[in-house]
Amino acid sequence: MDKKYIKVVFLGESGVGKTSLINRYINNSYKESEVSTFNASNFSKTIKYEGKEYTFDIWDTPGSDALKSLTKIFLKQSKIFVLVYDTTDKKSFLNLQYWLDSILEEFGSKSFIILIGNKSDLINKRQVKESDGSKFANIIKALFIQTSAKTNDNWSLNFENLLKDYLTINKKEIPEIEDTDDYLDDLLLY
Ligand code: GDP
Ligand code: MG
Repeated sequence: MDKKYIKVVFLGESGVGKTSLINRYINNSYKESEVSTFNASNFSKTIKYEGKEYTFDIWDTPGSDALKSLTKIFLKQSKIFVLVYDTTDKKSFLNLQYWLDSILEEFGSKSFIILIGNKSDLINKRQVKESDGSKFANIIKALFIQTSAKTNDNWSLNFENLLKDYLTINKKEIPEIEDTDDYLDDLLLY
C-alpha cells in the first residue's frame, strides 16, 4: 500500500473561524453561524502530488480557555500546525503565543507552522494589520496568509498549496503507513 498520512491541527481562540475555514476547504461551504466546537473532530483530504497520494488528516479543535489543556492532547503526532487568529480581534492575535509555546515545547523550532489571519472581508472592523501578521510570521518562521472563510478569498487554493509546500520540504521524511488502523489506534491512545 502506498498511503501517506499527515496530521494537521487547527489551533486558535474560539470564534476565529477554524471550523469555517475547514468547512470551506473540505466542503466548499460556509454557514453564518457555525456551531461551536466542543470536541475535536477530524476530516481527511487526499491530495495527489508527484504521482503519489497523500492523505491529510485535518483536526478541528475547541479553542475556549476551559478546553485549552484538552486541546493540547491533539498536538500529539501533528506535522502541520495551523494557527488562526481573527483580524477583527486583537486579543485572538496576542493569544496565539499560548499555542506557539505549546508547539515549541513539544516539537521544537523546526515545526511547520501556517499562520492565518481570518475574516479579511470585515475591512471596517480590522484590528490587526496585515503587516503585523506577516511580521509575526517572520519571527516564528511560519508561512502566512490573510483570508476569508466567508468569501473564500485567498483560502482553499492557497491552503492546498501550503500543504503541498510541506510535501516538497518533507518528501523524504513522510513514512508510508501500511495499515491505517494502526495509525488511528496510535492517535486514539492519546
Ligand atoms: P471557531 O470557533 O474558530 O471554529 O470559529 P467558527 O468557524 O465557529 O466561526 C465563528 C463565527 O465567525 C461564525 O459566526 C462564523 O460564521 C464567523 N466567521 C468565520 N469565518 C469568517 C470570515 O471569514 N468572515 C466573516 N465575516 N465571518 C466569519
Ligand atoms: Mg469551531
